[in-house]
Amino acid sequence: MTPKSAAAAARATVYGYPRQGPNRELKKAIEGYWKGRVTADALHATAAELRRSNRQQLADAGIHEVPTGDFSYYDHVLDTTVMVGAVPERHRAAVDADATDGYFAMARGTQEVAPLEMTKWFDTNYHYLVPELGPGTVFTADSTKQVTELKEALAQGLTARPVLVGPVTYLLLAKPAPGVPADFEPLTLLDRLLPVYAEVLADLRAAGADWVQLDEPALVQDRTPAELNAAERAYRELGALTDRPKLLVASYFDRLGDALPVLAKAPVEGIALDFTEAAADNLEALAAVGGLPGKRLVAGVVNGRNVWINDLQKSLSTLGTLLGLADRVDVAASCSLLHVPLDTAAEKDIDPQILRWLSFARQKTAEVVTLAEGLVRGTDAITGELAANRAALASRAGSPITRDPAVRARAEAVTDADARRSQPYAERAAAQRAHLGLPLLPTTTIGSFPQTTELRTARADLSAGRIDTAGYEERIKTEIQEVISFQEKTGIDVLVHGEPERNDMVQYFAEQLTGYLATQHGWVQSYGTRYVRPPILAGDISRPEPMTVRWTSYAQSLSDRPVKGMLTGPVTMLAWSFVRDDQPLGDTARQVALALRDEVGDLEAAGTSVIQVDEPALRETLPLRAADRAAYLAWATEAFRISTSGVRPDTQIHTHMCYAEFGDIVRAIDDLDADVISLEAARSHMQVARELAAHGYPREAGPGVYDIHSPRVPSADEAADLLRTGLKAIPAERLWVNPDCGLKTRGWPETRASLENLVTAARTVRGEL
Ligand code: GLN
Ligand code: ZN
Repeated sequence: MTPKSAAAAARATVYGYPRQGPNRELKKAIEGYWKGRVTADALHATAAELRRSNRQQLADAGIHEVPTGDFSYYDHVLDTTVMVGAVPERHRAAVDADATDGYFAMARGTQEVAPLEMTKWFDTNYHYLVPELGPGTVFTADSTKQVTELKEALAQGLTARPVLVGPVTYLLLAKPAPGVPADFEPLTLLDRLLPVYAEVLADLRAAGADWVQLDEPALVQDRTPAELNAAERAYRELGALTDRPKLLVASYFDRLGDALPVLAKAPVEGIALDFTEAAADNLEALAAVGGLPGKRLVAGVVNGRNVWINDLQKSLSTLGTLLGLADRVDVAASCSLLHVPLDTAAEKDIDPQILRWLSFARQKTAEVVTLAEGLVRGTDAITGELAANRAALASRAGSPITRDPAVRARAEAVTDADARRSQPYAERAAAQRAHLGLPLLPTTTIGSFPQTTELRTARADLSAGRIDTAGYEERIKTEIQEVISFQEKTGIDVLVHGEPERNDMVQYFAEQLTGYLATQHGWVQSYGTRYVRPPILAGDISRPEPMTVRWTSYAQSLSDRPVKGMLTGPVTMLAWSFVRDDQPLGDTARQVALALRDEVGDLEAAGTSVIQVDEPALRETLPLRAADRAAYLAWATEAFRISTSGVRPDTQIHTHMCYAEFGDIVRAIDDLDADVISLEAARSHMQVARELAAHGYPREAGPGVYDIHSPRVPSADEAADLLRTGLKAIPAERLWVNPDCGLKTRGWPETRASLENLVTAARTVRGEL
């Protein structure tokens, strides 16, 4: 085909759409079902109507081929587990008794059985349920959900393309089932899994599918030759099937790298590539394999996981280059639109001048359609859209929100010295010991105390105007008094104020920093029925006034013991927000870091001797490809040091991390140059303490001895045992005693009992030293 005819055939498509509905109808229906207030029939009817209206919206917007099967009651990886019959033994009875209840039992557990483990979907903030497989796993095909949803679309008279998690990614995301040796590799089950995919493909063909999309995002990560071989075999075998739809193998979130030649040679009819962040690499790799003659190329040129309008002209030029490289070029968003909110039109509080810089799922859909139209009919057909797009981009680039000269000048003037404490760690540690006068094995907590219903009600009352600011602040003060007096009575050494004023550890700061935007309806699925509204890093970041000093000082005024100041670090502020796409992440991180540096300085000036800067997201933000990690860690650790290096040697900087394993970033943790780190460790029996020791980590550390993810109260003996285990790796002079994480999700009764036991354990073990 010539580039011209490839253009003439261009179609618009997407891989998936937000599931929740405009008013989070799906969340309400599912949670109502769990509580017994919504019947199964009503739940299924709500879901079917949401699917119908999503598809209709997409088609009305001009999407030529709508996705099906991307909808989910909880998670699409769990749906795949059902599709291939890999239900864990412990859930079998529940699934056999009732498919819907069994499904939710796998997702959430029941009184009797634990749920599947949940973990992050690549480097997004979406969580999937981890398949549990073993040598005994028997796969059986169940194509019901996929076939039903395809038929729904066909009945609407639409062209539809079922979207499935591909077999290689499914296996690479799985883990050994309980009781199966930890070194079992699920990928060894590929030969057993492929016939099941073959059956599903045949069913979809019979139901009327012309194309089926198989998502293989795992292939954008570094893969061993054996894994690439498995991918090669999988698509050779699926390609060789006679009774099947055309296959589109989709990649997203990064470049395909070594997997690109593998897929290019495979007997599949189409490949989808991410041309947003990975554009240059994918283009080069495509050219190197001589393009995709005879294949359909789906070009993800509209960023599916960020909230900014596309640069249409730039995308058209990328698409123009691609036209010479494939038989047919289609236009798409880079990944499922599940990762962005639904519609900017719902945001009534955002300045319309700024709103036009933003693009949520509906707007992205329109962008994809415009680009496809530009390809087919020429740019003359979309002059209106191009002009509006140019104007919006120019308004963003030229806005004082986007570029604050004072912030930029300050960020540029940062020197190495600004990111370095005035004394090396060993000297500081001595100064801090003298200044703080803490016992061996000092006890502390991670920051938050239970966020009680009263606190939530107070916040709701404030925003509804039922109480005024003074009334709200009185309630916060009362809470702080209680938290401080409990900690004093219990004998905790370094106190916290309990964070009662914070709705969320990122949002609280985002609301106070200039340059951040909040949305009213910008819900994005985090997992299951949990939706979050990430704030948007829209412009240059500055701090008009102190954000936490009042509350920390108030807490300190109530006690002679040190009260820790509590901040969210720059990397986490980026990781749990939508980030700017018009400058490197490191530049944004540096601006946030400078704002935090001022806050740290103000806390110190107000008499705070211990300041904790939380970075739970440091590990999870690590790039998917190893080659990109050093650059990331360089800016990430520098941003942390910029935030924290302005203090006196005798001011103690703490950091905190959780939600991950840290064995592979101990060097980076050391590079933070914090004085003390607290880490999640209770469930892994202090594994992280051994990892720190193995890397010769020289600083103080508090591996958690209280698993706060469970309402269970650890006994003093249990906590003491964990401490003794910790002492084998970290000497007493450097070991802290603390829970795994903040206590905001816990209730007061178990918090009280657990912290009392934790202090008892510390005293017992001190007595043995
Ligand atoms: N300081 C925060 C808290 O205690 C830390 C939360 C986190 O690590 N996710 O809640
Ligand atoms: Zn934590």
